[in-house]
Amino acid sequence: MSDLVLAGGTVVTAEGSFRADVAVSGETIEAVGLDLPHDGAEVVDVSGARLMPGFIDGHTHMDMPFGGTITADDWDTGTAAAVAGGTTMLVDFSLQDPDGTLAEAVETWHGKAEKSRIDYGLHVAITNLDEDAKRELPSLPGLGVATVKIFMAYKGTPLYTEDEDLFEAMQIARECGLLVLVHAENGDAIAKLQEQALARGDTEPRWHALTRPEAVEAEATNRAIRLAEVADCPLLVVHVSCAASLEEIQRAHARGRPVYAETCPQYLVFSDADLARPGFEGAKYVLSPPLRDPSNRPALWHGLQAQDLHIFGSDHCSFNYAGQKDLGRDDFTLIPNGAPGVEERPAVLWTHGVLEGRISENLMVAVLSTNQAKVHGMAGRKGAIAPGADADIVVWDPDMTVTATRSNRHGNVDYTPYEGMTFTGAPASVYLRGRLAYQDGQVLSEPGSGRFVHRTFAQPAPAAAVR
Ligand SMILES: [Zn+2]
Repeated sequence: MSDLVLAGGTVVTAEGSFRADVAVSGETIEAVGLDLPHDGAEVVDVSGARLMPGFIDGHTHMDMPFGGTITADDWDTGTAAAVAGGTTMLVDFSLQDPDGTLAEAVETWHGKAEKSRIDYGLHVAITNLDEDAKRELPSLPGLGVATVKIFMAYKGTPLYTEDEDLFEAMQIARECGLLVLVHAENGDAIAKLQEQALARGDTEPRWHALTRPEAVEAEATNRAIRLAEVADCPLLVVHVSCAASLEEIQRAHARGRPVYAETCPQYLVFSDADLARPGFEGAKYVLSPPLRDPSNRPALWHGLQAQDLHIFGSDHCSFNYAGQKDLGRDDFTLIPNGAPGVEERPAVLWTHGVLEGRISENLMVAVLSTNQAKVHGMAGRKGAIAPGADADIVVWDPDMTVTATRSNRHGNVDYTPYEGMTFTGAPASVYLRGRLAYQDGQVLSEPGSGRFVHRTFAQPAPAAAVR
């Protein structure tokens, strides 16, 4: 017997859209079909709405130290923003302390995530790939951690990893069932370009993009792909920002390589021109890889359409303008990298993708939810509206319009890069495992409502499986 029936809506899955009711029993979906029996269940009329599987954001940074400061959003405020946009699960990056173990990073992040309002998984972001860390990698799947991120950028900081270590980690990952994620930018070239810019006195935010040209991303993307080819392991290239980098991924797919790829909303709606905003405003748009010339956008949309880009993550990494971004007022290299976007990610895709005819609503569900579950290792339980799956459901109002401004955002950042931008399409309500988590602008899910999701990366998982 079901507890809740969402009646009269249109179910949107990655495969298709159809009229159906959704019955929920406890925390799981019990049935999907027309005219389901209501006997005793709470019935919610959702006619006119789309019912989509709760969105999953495989790329966030909550409560994370970076560049001598710490992100503005913690797990309470960051997950409030997430669920307000329709996201019911995050996979966040547990950042290794360079002097600590990988298990300690996971434990620290579990502590931070005690405040999570939505379900969560954890990646490990490696900062010190020494022999101890390499020996420890095979223990991560046992902790429910299916993914590790390795940084080819940020030379001069602990994040930066040499190719030799990256390659060895790929070999280990292949053996123990981990998926390697790479931040692909050539750290050496960037360090040199930054040094030269500062020596010339070029200190403004726009130099952030000018010292990280597209080719440094494309080069590192190709290098990671080729190293993964030698190690014979799958790879996930996160935050693909430009056509040049995407071309390397397309070439890998043409060779049949299991290379997954992610792009992010900021690359579809902002550009390098935002970095040149008057005064120091450009600092709000400093993130890496940087915002690009808008001529890259058609390629990124095509990459989503063709499913060379499988997932759409936010890379939510929020810093206040006052007191954090302004650490780099006299030196762009000191501006903390990142921007908020966990709340806006679905609306960007509906407004600029579905409504403008670039992608179908089914592809939107794929890249926001279903493919996220497949790539990040929780398919079946998450990312689906089907019997047996967790009852994470977005009741999407396709016509609701919202103009983003700081005061109607649900996170804890003193600005929004989306200020003044109007979106059509928004969640009317959101269910997390059968419980109402968000409705009519109000976040109802309490801190601590989120549960850890043990993820398993099923190898070999060819990229074709999610295409
Ligand atoms: Zn990131």
